[in-house]
Amino acid sequence: MDAHGAIARISLAAVQHNFRRAKQLAPTAKVMAVVKANAYGHGDLSVATALKNEADLFAVARFEEAQKLRAGGITQPILLLSGFLNADQLQYSARHNFQVCIHQTEQLALLERTPLAAPITVWLKIDSGMHRIGFTPEQAEAILARLSAIKQVIQPVNALTHFARADEPEQRAVTEAAITRFKQATAGKVKHSALCNSAGVMAFPEAHADFIRPGIMLYGITPFSDQQGTDVGLRPAMNFTSSLIAVREHKAGEPVGYAGSWVSPRDTRIGVIAVGYGDGYPRMAPAGTPVLINGRRVPLVGRVAMDMATVDLGPEGNEQVGDEVLLWGEGLAAEEVARHVGTIAYELVTRLTARPRWEYVD
Ligand SMILES: *Cc1c(COP(=O)(O)O)cnc(C)c1O
Repeated sequence: MDAHGAIARISLAAVQHNFRRAKQLAPTAKVMAVVKANAYGHGDLSVATALKNEADLFAVARFEEAQKLRAGGITQPILLLSGFLNADQLQYSARHNFQVCIHQTEQLALLERTPLAAPITVWLKIDSGMHRIGFTPEQAEAILARLSAIKQVIQPVNALTHFARADEPEQRAVTEAAITRFKQATAGKVKHSALCNSAGVMAFPEAHADFIRPGIMLYGITPFSDQQGTDVGLRPAMNFTSSLIAVREHKAGEPVGYAGSWVSPRDTRIGVIAVGYGDGYPRMAPAGTPVLINGRRVPLVGRVAMDMATVDLGPEGNEQVGDEVLLWGEGLAAEEVARHVGTIAYELVTRLTARPRWEYVD
């Protein structure tokens, strides 16, 4: 017997492959590799280090994420996708070659009055229809005029926008309208433009512009709900595994797990996996969610608990204690597991906890 707990095995070669796949789809664009939220749960420093000879820029959501990359030896410019939150962050950004988004007037006012140690690269965020952050296309002209008067801002500035529905093939018109609005507001007035998240990279080549901003696809996952990454030439970067710590004979009519939520209709064998929501495996995964054991798909049964999850191996199941269980990764797409759980693969990979053992392979 040689069982083990949950392991998150990250293939940096897969990340590099996926990065090149993005470049292949957008051959004329530069790439900002999006490594926010700990690189979608894959380890931001490891991922950024694996891409540091290839990515033109890294993008993160939070100031602290950029600080961590710098401290870890990443030398490329790093874009703060929602900019700075106060004058300290702005001054630090200028000193450490962080580029900043400006999405509202409070940031603009700080930029106008805060002395900086070095000139800073600014990206004007245009709200092209998402309606969360950004200036409206109508405001763009006046904001660009104010930015052009700020000496410590590198001129001309850049502009970006973020699509709300580029992952919905039946909503192409929404994204086409967003592209048009962005272009009308910025054409001829900015240095570089960036519009495309992964879905945009894959589905809207007319919007590739100067920089693409792939996130999820770098990790081998597609944003399109009717596909999985391997359908479009991506390789899953995360193999999330654990092992069987018990295999038990189980009688028809007996329940399994908390609340007795599942009762076996037949005599069977139940496998107990050393994984639970304490590792980041979703508690909401319902009976029927597949796992892969020795290449065979078997269904989850009963409640996922903090430390354990149970599967119905079937009366003929010959799996043994110690056998490895693939929860998602190569051979069982996180996208498919996410569909069972009622979420997106982004969330599954991003919310692993600190408990699994982390392994990096080239
Ligand atoms: C997260 C994010 C991305 C990457 O999106 P994916 O769907 O993961 O490719 C791109 N741009 C912005 C502004 C983001 O916040």
